[in-house]
Amino acid sequence: MSRIAYINGRYVPMREATVHVEDRGYQFADGVYEVCEVRGGRLIDERRHLDRLERSLGELRIRMPLSRAVLGVILREVVARNRVGYGIVYLQITRGVAKRDHAFPAGAIAPSLVVTARRLDKARNEALATRGIAVISVPENRWGRVDIKTIGLLPNVLARQAAIDQGARDAWFVDEAGFVTEASSANAWIVTDTGKLVTRHADHAILHGITRGVVLDAVKEQNIAVEQRAFTLEEAYGAREAFITSASQIVLPVISINGHLIGNGKPGPVGIALREVFHRYAEAG
Ligand code: PLP
Repeated sequence: MSRIAYINGRYVPMREATVHVEDRGYQFADGVYEVCEVRGGRLIDERRHLDRLERSLGELRIRMPLSRAVLGVILREVVARNRVGYGIVYLQITRGVAKRDHAFPAGAIAPSLVVTARRLDKARNEALATRGIAVISVPENRWGRVDIKTIGLLPNVLARQAAIDQGARDAWFVDEAGFVTEASSANAWIVTDTGKLVTRHADHAILHGITRGVVLDAVKEQNIAVEQRAFTLEEAYGAREAFITSASQIVLPVISINGHLIGNGKPGPVGIALREVFHRYAEAG
C-alpha cells in the first residue's frame, strides 16, 4: 500500500507528494512542525500540540492556514488513509512559496501545509524502553529560540548522527555553563541521588515538550518530588536514573551518558512507572 500525504488541499501518494522548489521551508527552513503520537488510531494530546503550533506560528508571524477544526479533520484523514493504529502524524507549515529573498514576501502568500503519517513498531519501541538507551553529550550550538518548533533542525541532525557514530542512540546538548538543555528530539530528565525528579525549566533553551507537560501532570498526582531547573552533566552522571520524553518515544530510559552508567545501568523504576501511567494523563481524541 502506498503511503498517502496531504499537501495544500490534496491527498496524494507519497511519490507525487512534492513541494515547490521556492517553498521557503525548502530554502530557508522558514516553517514549523508538530508530531503527534497516534495510539489506537486516535491522536494523543492534539489540543496541546495545536496550541504549541499556533504559538510557534505566531512567534514567526506565519498565518495559520486553516482553522483548528479543519486541521484536525485532515490529521485524522491522513491517519486513516495510511491505516496508522500505532505511530505518528507529522504536520508542517511553511511561510509559503515566493521568489528567493530573505525578507518576508511583500504581498500575502498562502502558507504551505503538509501532513504525513506513519506506523511505528510497537514491539520494537517497547523492547527499546525495556533495554534503555545510551546517550552522548554534544555542545549546545542551536539558536536562542529553540522553544519555537521550527523545521530548522541541522544541529539536531548532526547531534543525532554523532551519537550513532559513537554507538549511542541520542545526544544531550550541554550549554556553555555546563548545563544540559535537552536531547536532539526529546526533553531530558534525571532522578537525582536524593530521589528528586529534575528537568530543565521551560525557557527559550528547550522545546516545551508536550510529553514533558503531561509527565509533570502525572508526577503531581503520583506525589513525586519534582524540580524544574537546569542540571549539569556531572549531576546526571551521579543520578539514580535518567530518561527522555517525546511524543514518539513517550518516556524512554537512559542507561548511560558518555559511557558513565546511570544508577545500576538498567532502566529505573520512576521512568518505567511514568511510561506505564503516561496515557492516563494524556488526552486521546
Ligand atoms: N525537544 C526537542 C528538540 C524535540 O524535537 C522534541 C520533539 O520532537 C521534544 C523536545 C519533545 O517534545 P514533545 O514531547 O512535544 O514531542
